[in-house]
Amino acid sequence: MVGAIRAKRDGVTLEDEQIAAIISGYVGGSIPDYQMSALLMAICFQGLTAHETLQLTRSMVDSGDVLDPGAALGRRIVDKHSTGGVGDKVSLALAPIVAACGVPMGKMSGRGLGHTGGTLDKLESIPGFTVELDEARFIEQVRSIGVAIAGQTGDLVPADKALYALRDVTGTVESIPLIAASIMSKKLASGADAIVLDVKVGSGAFMHTIEDARTLADEMIAIGNGAGREVRALITDMSKPLGRAVGNAIEIREVVELLHDRGPSDLRELVFTAAGMLLSLSDLDVSEEEGMLRARDAVSTGAAYQRYRQWITAQGGDPEAELALAPVVHTVLAHEGGVVAELDALTVGLAAARLGAGRRTKADNVDHAVGIQLHATVGERIGAGDPLLTIYARDDLAAHEAANSVLKRLRIVTGGEAASVAGESRSVIVERRG
Ligand code: URA
Repeated sequence: MVGAIRAKRDGVTLEDEQIAAIISGYVGGSIPDYQMSALLMAICFQGLTAHETLQLTRSMVDSGDVLDPGAALGRRIVDKHSTGGVGDKVSLALAPIVAACGVPMGKMSGRGLGHTGGTLDKLESIPGFTVELDEARFIEQVRSIGVAIAGQTGDLVPADKALYALRDVTGTVESIPLIAASIMSKKLASGADAIVLDVKVGSGAFMHTIEDARTLADEMIAIGNGAGREVRALITDMSKPLGRAVGNAIEIREVVELLHDRGPSDLRELVFTAAGMLLSLSDLDVSEEEGMLRARDAVSTGAAYQRYRQWITAQGGDPEAELALAPVVHTVLAHEGGVVAELDALTVGLAAARLGAGRRTKADNVDHAVGIQLHATVGERIGAGDPLLTIYARDDLAAHEAANSVLKRLRIVTGGEAASVAGESRSVIVERRG
């Protein structure tokens, strides 16, 4: 291990066998945290070659169970992954839509950490809903209903669990090859044949620049292709929150809106684009355009909402239950009219997390009922006295603090600047890769 640490420190490429031995040694307990930390830090500075990253991912996959839902269902399995952001509820709408189009989607998802939300936390705001499904029930539900979203079942990629916890406390999360290997190891181990990646870029994302987002997308595509999977990536805007709702229950409400063929245009654009891509990668043998049309049809005919109801019911939830929101409701009105020029994603994410919607450490509980409803977003015109945002909080102080912090990074412009901001064409999809 000392030799490997020195080699990586000096920028030398590691051999396949070395990488495999390091991962199995670390998971098995023969390599201590302090040596692994030193290697991770060396990787942060020196990076990994594409081949090293693929080998690292393979070794991580080999550390635990590997699922094969495709064999169990006799279908080609498609999956989607987002690198995480603020207001990102795409999977929750996508899964029932894709299922309603005849493509099964069983997803293993995670919880939120810091300013980013987690799919499992959002789902748990539905009374009775369980995210704990064993492998047999998970597969059976995907077979019978076409949708299941659950926490990781079995002993999938234990190397990632151990490495992620170590990276979190050693300042080594922010390394593109380590992030790529971490994400892709879980996708490969859960058995997806084809994967759509949503790589977020902007203040509320892991990647703050388009160059870094491209590099991460390309590294994940290379890993997937190297492991024989088809992978496509969307690089999407996370400089402002996605959609209008940030929290847990409040985001589920927005998903239901979308499934009733309403909802914010940025969220709709991303959901329908990702649905088209997933359907085109599935065994339906359709183009992306045809896939997108089918997805839109599934929503407008109500088929996707029906599928959502079946899915929520199958996991113990009540799809019609009124989702409780926190008792203090504080709406901020615009002092003056104009066009919203900035609404910072990170600021909104942090404000929602401080209200209780997120967790600071993995042990914290989230408050499903708090959140932030945005009434206007970047590029939209508002009049003086119009509502700008509504905070759902447990007490007045928390509500005012959240509103004040969001307002510091919410900029409204007037006059010529307003006309130019309003006139800019704006797509949530910044770029495609793969
Ligand atoms: N998400 C992951 O699963 N792993 C990382 O390293 C970063 C984000």
